[in-house]
Amino acid sequence: MMQSPKVTLFGAAGEVTGSCTLVESEFSRVLVDFGMFQGAPEQELRNADPPPIDFAKLDAVVLTHAHVDHCGRLGMLSRLGFNGPIIVSDATSEILPRVLRSSATLQFVRVEEHGAGTAPSFEVLEPAHLMQSSRARDVPPVVLFGHRDADRVAKMVRAIPWSAWHELPGGMRVRLHHACHVVGAASVELELEHGGARRRVLCSGDIGPFDNPLLAAHQWPERAPDLVVMECTNGHRSLREKDAVRTFDAVVHDAVANGRRLLFPVFALGRAQQLQQHFARLSRDGALDGFQVYLDSGMAVHGATVLERHPRLLAPGPQRMMLRGESPL
Ligand SMILES: [Zn+2]
Repeated sequence: MMQSPKVTLFGAAGEVTGSCTLVESEFSRVLVDFGMFQGAPEQELRNADPPPIDFAKLDAVVLTHAHVDHCGRLGMLSRLGFNGPIIVSDATSEILPRVLRSSATLQFVRVEEHGAGTAPSFEVLEPAHLMQSSRARDVPPVVLFGHRDADRVAKMVRAIPWSAWHELPGGMRVRLHHACHVVGAASVELELEHGGARRRVLCSGDIGPFDNPLLAAHQWPERAPDLVVMECTNGHRSLREKDAVRTFDAVVHDAVANGRRLLFPVFALGRAQQLQQHFARLSRDGALDGFQVYLDSGMAVHGATVLERHPRLLAPGPQRMMLRGESPL
């Protein structure tokens, strides 16, 4: 008999991407996140090598949020023998099928580009130990799953209400707490029977920045869990949203005044909606003066639409705007 619930990290341990955490008790096993390894080609090749988990024996997969380093390998699940529910928040259920499909498309595009010799050229500048990896562009990219797999897996997605316990097939219970990170993001709390006692494990998922002007404040469980699995990508930095906003405003004012063009490479979920909110604010303040703003990402537009459908996920100010029939975005 196991002495305590067992937690195994198959990715995002000592690195940033590839989140995949197995939580096991005597009677049940649940996987939290199944994300892609991203970065240099040799990192990405690791995606084709699934962790040593008996996927057919998992009771459920629970997803914290729809960033690819957390959800990017879900499309492989049916091929790996998993046939249970994929538990997500309501907002994530509206985003995930689209992320899976576009991920499948992107994988095929990369194979085609590689075959045609049109793949983008790049050089790794940091970290130093990956600088050799530029050579690895000769390695053909792998296709992990196709559109049919993505659609099959999308049918396994089950949205559950926020903050309420939900019973899983093997006897564990799961509860989602709003995580102030991107639309639909959750911290996952699992309660499991072990050695005659109930134990609680909290997987934080990605969290922060906390003074986010767009999203509601983070929710925490009312009682401390027995074990916390905490992401700490930015744990060594103090991220000050106010300083970032001041810099952003100054850059935009300069561009408007001097006829410059700005290009912002951003994550489609998260930063894109935050920038939209700041541009909308500057527009309402009359500071854009005819300056045109283009958002070149269907996924980013979709993320904004989903956020507007779930005003309870918004910070108080944007939520009040929605109630007045205006969009903060
Ligand atoms: Zn994330």
